Amino acid sequence: MNHPADLREHIAALRELGDLEGIAVETDWSLEAAAFTRYSTENRLPAPLFEKVAGVEDGFRIMGAPAALSSDPARPFARVALSIGLPPAATGREIIDHLVATRHLPGVPPKSVSSAEAEVKQNVLLGEAADLGRFPVPLVHAQDGGRYANTYGVILAQTPDGSWTNWSIARIMMIDGKHMTGLVLHPQHIAQVWQQWADLGEPMPYALVQGGDPAIPFVGGIPIGDGVNEADYIGALTGMPLKVVKAELSDLMVPASAEIVIEGHLSVERHGVEGPFGEFAGYMPTETSLQPVYSVEAITYRNDPIWPLVAEGKPADEFHTVTGVGMAAEALDIIRAAGLPATSAWVPLSTASHWLAVTVPADWRETLPGVTPEELARRVGEAVYTARLGAAIPQVFLLDDDIDPSDESDLLWALGTRVHPVDRKVVFEGPILSLLTCYTPEERHAGRATRVVHEALLPAPGERDARSDFAEAYPAEVRARVLAHHRV
Ligand code: MN
Repeated sequence: MNHPADLREHIAALRELGDLEGIAVETDWSLEAAAFTRYSTENRLPAPLFEKVAGVEDGFRIMGAPAALSSDPARPFARVALSIGLPPAATGREIIDHLVATRHLPGVPPKSVSSAEAEVKQNVLLGEAADLGRFPVPLVHAQDGGRYANTYGVILAQTPDGSWTNWSIARIMMIDGKHMTGLVLHPQHIAQVWQQWADLGEPMPYALVQGGDPAIPFVGGIPIGDGVNEADYIGALTGMPLKVVKAELSDLMVPASAEIVIEGHLSVERHGVEGPFGEFAGYMPTETSLQPVYSVEAITYRNDPIWPLVAEGKPADEFHTVTGVGMAAEALDIIRAAGLPATSAWVPLSTASHWLAVTVPADWRETLPGVTPEELARRVGEAVYTARLGAAIPQVFLLDDDIDPSDESDLLWALGTRVHPVDRKVVFEGPILSLLTCYTPEERHAGRATRVVHEALLPAPGERDARSDFAEAYPAEVRARVLAHHRV
């Protein structure tokens, strides 16, 4: 199967797998589309494509749960795998390995096309006509502060000197048809780029991209290193250059086969009342904050545009299957770059991206002579907690790779039986993301708290007990007879 080059090919691929359901009944953008999507996400049903949305032009559609867990238990990561150039049966571990391997390939820069060749230029709204009210911007949760114009779209922004173009996902709330406001939080890249404009006293040109190659929101949703051009990484990940076209109002190059691109400027002042929004931890906060305001000055879109919708909340949704998976890959890359022999890493979906499990091989003591388990845990913690992504990870569990950390039952067994209740912890004081709900309100407001590495390694081979499971508690010929009976 070829990598789907845009959202419509992604939808066609999911339909072929039986993992997409067209919803023909008229659906309201106010709560109803999101409630359908949340139910689908929680129950691992096919992704809903709302073909008739009340109150908008015929043909304007919403797609829910574009990268949530698949309805096929044998291929749980089909939507994620298809988003990044892998076959639908790829496992969590294969996805991590692909993300890490492609980070070290040369980037594949996007290819420019003319406006005539760019589907997203089929309709161009400028001035007063560029009004969000024409689009099915969803109200996602009943307690949200407003309709959310961004749940799975990517914000493009460039530093004033043009040296770095960042693509990232951050939530954005609709204020009215011409204005939006959204989280611009340090140390996220969007805040770093915005700060450079704010320091000059100038509003930041932006483009908000909905749809297009499914690798776009995947890469926009993961925390890759400072200064990396996401567009080039998308090409490396999928093996093909992304088609881009010049934006209407700025020199930003936007994906040519996107469904919808919204353009304008992000204000210098933080004068928009943003939130609340039911976030990835799975709870409904009540606080608002003051954030910069996005002006809506141009909107371009494909015929019969499809608005992607993530009904974020209790796991597992795209924050966990995309951002969490991406965090694990980035952490694995960082730990290996520190010279440590990690075999895998995983951010368990059910922890709402609050935990990171890291595995090392049984022979790690030979690779690092003289290093104690506590020293290894300290080095892993130093690698993770001096990196930007460390602010998003309150707890790291260092484990042997006899278990697959992406298998939650395997992982819970290892955590329950190997993590000491009190001892074998290495604690790191430092920055934390304010959205992490395991911290106190004071810590969340201060943005600083303790993070921990739990050293939960088994004794060296030869000193450790065998597992009392099928693989280790029976002779080979007995196992062979059992397997022959089950024709494995
Ligand atoms: Mn970035």
